Amino acid sequence: SKTQVGFIGLGNMGKPMAKNLLKHGYPVIATDVFPESCKELQELGAQIVDNPAEVADQADRIVTMLPSSPNVIEVYTGPNGILKKVKKGSLLIDSSTIDPAVSKEMAVATEKMGAVFMDAPVSGGVGAASSGKLTFMVGGVEEEFTAAQELLTCMGANVVYCGAVGTGQAAKICNNMLLAIGMIGTSETMNLGIRLGLDPKLLAKILNMSSGRCWSSDTYNPVPGVMEGVPSGNGYQGGFGTQLMAKDLGLAQTTATNTKTPVPLGSLAHQIYRMMCARGYAGKDFSSVFQFLREDEEE
Ligand code: NAD
Repeated sequence: SKTQVGFIGLGNMGKPMAKNLLKHGYPVIATDVFPESCKELQELGAQIVDNPAEVADQADRIVTMLPSSPNVIEVYTGPNGILKKVKKGSLLIDSSTIDPAVSKEMAVATEKMGAVFMDAPVSGGVGAASSGKLTFMVGGVEEEFTAAQELLTCMGANVVYCGAVGTGQAAKICNNMLLAIGMIGTSETMNLGIRLGLDPKLLAKILNMSSGRCWSSDTYNPVPGVMEGVPSGNGYQGGFGTQLMAKDLGLAQTTATNTKTPVPLGSLAHQIYRMMCARGYAGKDFSSVFQFLREDEEE
């Protein structure tokens, strides 16, 4: 029979991910600082405990899905953190999107306790988390990849080994920087076309059969009414929050600065998403940049 898997952070992504572990027959032991987010999982049979140390006391495989770097540091190294109780030989997988330098620090601290750390951030969003179709980008010791894969395939369709610890985060940060730039580009292009008198559906169709085509134009179009089943058709609710995108662009900037890499469009995208957060878009899906660009629309 399968042994208990720990899960810490039952938010928009973590909750459906933990549910998929249960579905695959893994007993789950979980915790979240926000008790309300534990209820549903408890009803589904998961054991809920007070803090990460108690998770580590019982489970020797633990997945964390937390908002950002400070939360991961707290959950690993805090007074009731995982590392207070971690068992030798445990496998700790962090799927949060955080600074790769923090992943490396957590790996060193985990290794000191005789356990293994891997970074395994995801792409795919809440829909893919629910349907078990996430893509995991995994960094860490290659010999441990098979053990991580066993759990991650319960929650994802693609599990890709990227290299040493931190490289999963690197892949994730690069993807999201391009996604942010592409979404802003698509939004300003669609807006210009509309002002030039083009029907937005027709313009999207033409872009999608031409060289301007991208994921933001053909799968996640930001213009209300162009596509069904995307946040732009639903007041930009759900999806991937502008605040989380701003965080990921900030991570891209930090890593670019550390490596002296020019990322002019990534930098501008970061500023645009930060301005949006300050103007009330923080909780809306990041495709709402289309609406933001139209705020000056003249009647
Ligand atoms: P979320 O804010 O919905 O969930 C995070 C959860 O962590 C919350 O329930 C919170 O209470 C809990 N938490 C925070 N600090 C804690 C602590 N010290 N101990 C225990 N629990 C704690 O965030 P999310 O949307 O689930 O995203 C999680 C991560 O995944 C982020 O890094 C995000 O960038 C990344 N991500 C999100 C999406 C998406 O579409 N939402 C897609 C890909 C990647």
